[in-house]
Formats: sequence, C-alpha cells, structure tokens
Amino acid sequence: MKDSLLNYGLEELKSILIKRNEKPFRAMQIFKALHSGLGFSEMTELSKTLRENLSEEFSAQTVKIIKTLKSVDGTEKFLFLLDDGNVIEGVLMKYSYGNTLCVSTQVGCRMGCKFCASGLHGLVRNLTAGEILGEVIAANKYSGGKLGEDRKIINVVLMGSGEPLDNYDNVIKFLRLLNDKNGLNISARNVSLSTSGLVPKIYDLAKENIPLTLTISLHNPFDDERAKVMPVAKRYKIGEILSACENYFNKTGRRYIFEYVLIKDENDDVRHAEALIKLLKGKPCHVNLIRLNEVKENNLKSAADKDAYRFLGLLEKGGLSATVRRRMGADIDGACGQLRQRYLDENKREETNE
Ligand code: SAH
Ligand code: SF4
Repeated sequence: MKDSLLNYGLEELKSILIKRNEKPFRAMQIFKALHSGLGFSEMTELSKTLRENLSEEFSAQTVKIIKTLKSVDGTEKFLFLLDDGNVIEGVLMKYSYGNTLCVSTQVGCRMGCKFCASGLHGLVRNLTAGEILGEVIAANKYSGGKLGEDRKIINVVLMGSGEPLDNYDNVIKFLRLLNDKNGLNISARNVSLSTSGLVPKIYDLAKENIPLTLTISLHNPFDDERAKVMPVAKRYKIGEILSACENYFNKTGRRYIFEYVLIKDENDDVRHAEALIKLLKGKPCHVNLIRLNEVKENNLKSAADKDAYRFLGLLEKGGLSATVRRRMGADIDGACGQLRQRYLDENKREETNE
C-alpha cells in the first residue's frame, strides 16, 4: 500500500517537494486539493510531470465510498474501501445545527467488548492519520462540502470501529490535520473522542493541548461486573479512570461524558443507578444512556424504552446530568461495526457459493 500524502502537514509536504526540486509554494495547492477530496488527476493546477512523479510514490485519497445506506431519519451510513482492500464504516448524523460524522479509527478492535460488533474478530490493523482524515474528506465531499467555512461536516466523533487511544499517534496526527486552518478547520471543540478507558493514554491526551470532549465507555459502575462485558476493565479500574478524567478536566476545562449502553438485566437495575450517582455526583460530567443495538452474534438484549427512561429518571433524581441518546439509523445497522460485519458476512457467503 502506497503512503498517502494525506498523512502529511503543510511543512512536511514542502520538504517532500523540495526533495524533488519542486517549488515549495506548491505544497499549499496540494494540501488544499487533497483536503477537498481531489485525486492527482484532478489537480490540474500542477504540471503533469509533478503529478506523475508524486503518484509513483504516494496515493492522494485514502478511502473510497463503496456503499451508502440511508435511514428513514436521514442518518447515512458509509462503507469505505481502503487501498489494501479492507473496509471500514462511518455514519453521518444530521442534526438541526449541522452534520456530525462518526469515524472509525482501526480496522476491527482488540478490546473485545461483548456487546460490540467491531471486536468480533479482533484487530486487523490501525488506520493511518490520512485514512481517518480520508473518511471525513470523503463524507464532506459526498455531502457537497468544501474547505473551511464551506464544509458540510460540523462535528466529528471518534466512535466508529476501533479504540482510538489504542492507535494514539495516528489519531493525534489526524486531529491536528482536521484542525488545520487551510483544510477542513474543524476545531477540537467540535470533536468527541470515545474510549473504553485506557488510563495512561488519557493522561497523555491531556498534555496534547487538544481540548476535545473526552467520552468514556463506562457501561457499569462496578468493576467486577464491568469486566464481564469489557475485558479492558481488568486492567483499569473505574477509580483510576475517574482520576484520569478529573486530570483531563483540570488541564482542558472540558466537561467529560460517560456512555452507558443499557443492556437488559445486566446493568439497568436500581442498584446500578444508585452506584452511578454515588460515583459521579458533583463531577463536571454528563451521562449518555444508549439503548443497545442488538447484534446477532450475541444474546444481549436492549433495555426497553420505558426502562431506559426509568433509569434516566433515577439518575436525574440523584442529581446527575443525563440524557437518553436518540436512536439514529437503527434500521441501517446503526451500531459500531455492524455494517462492516454484515458486509464481511455477505462476502464470505459469496465466496462459499463459488
Ligand atoms: N472504542 C471506543 C470507541 C468506539 S465504540 C469505545 O469503546 O468507546 C463507541 C461507542 O459505541 C461505545 O460507547 C460503545 O460502547 C458503543 N457501542 C458498541 N457496540 C454497541 C452496540 N451494539 N449498541 C450500542 N452501542 C454500542
Ligand atoms: Fe472496541 Fe469500543 Fe467496540 Fe469495545 S466498544 S470492542 S473498545 S470499538
């Protein structure tokens, strides 16, 4: 697989050009063209020789949209093809204030959470910074967006397949490129990063000076029960995660969010609500209750709507700030990793049919 020019910042592009005895001012043209979603053949401001020369060593765009699915609620799901044949997915959610894109950060995931389709077959590989950025560029172009003020994606959430903090360096590089004023110029304030709770990396992130919204997948207030659905909970205890969040808040001033996927009879009891209140009361945080998107590969069931709202009522009564997340795109395999899994299943079926 060729290295993509999308992995590089403006200064790095300049050095690449200088090495080829080209004028460094071309770097800005190339950067803007790349971030607008153009391929080499469309960069007509550049000479043919330069384009050919660059394309021998590098690729331009890193992902291709090979399938889109549209939900009745407007949510759109993309299947992206990578240069090495792997596929990943992204979800575009439409809100009154603008579009939010949910991106994948890895092909698969090694965390193995029981309720999640992304972890079913472990980690295949990390995405490069240019590939994660490529998801945003492709979705923005698809939606008719351009650079800067004219972009059509307002917010980005790192909540697709993969554990972003398990691909730390590429994710940080991606965030800096996303924020570049000559590119999409999406600021950290419009970015949420969701993690299963890799404590040392949360401390590292706090030092990066990227004030994004940190989101923690909590899903249970008791360490032992949490470890039954999230193997990573054996490594990092909830107390350690909370200290890391507090440090994050002190460094960035950003309130943090806990995600809590409600699974029927697993984590939706009154005692769970009470323990959550005890853990989180008075902290600068918010709890996002999510109804499980049921995955056919396991037997876990979603809490019923009325139970989700009863749980919400308990948290609110206990003084927590909480919401039940709107179900989006449930009719199009909305949950993390489900579309990719379906695609892999279907392709496997085709192979065995042959
Ligand atoms: N790996 C990171 C980010 C990707 S998962 C993390 O775990 O936080 C993003 C969110 O989707 C997490 O909160 C995860 O718990 C949730 N999720 C995964 N599978 C789900 C499912 N089947 N239904 C609802 N939410 C799910
Ligand atoms: Fe990985 Fe997140 Fe899925 Fe867990 S929920 S397996 S950490 S993608």
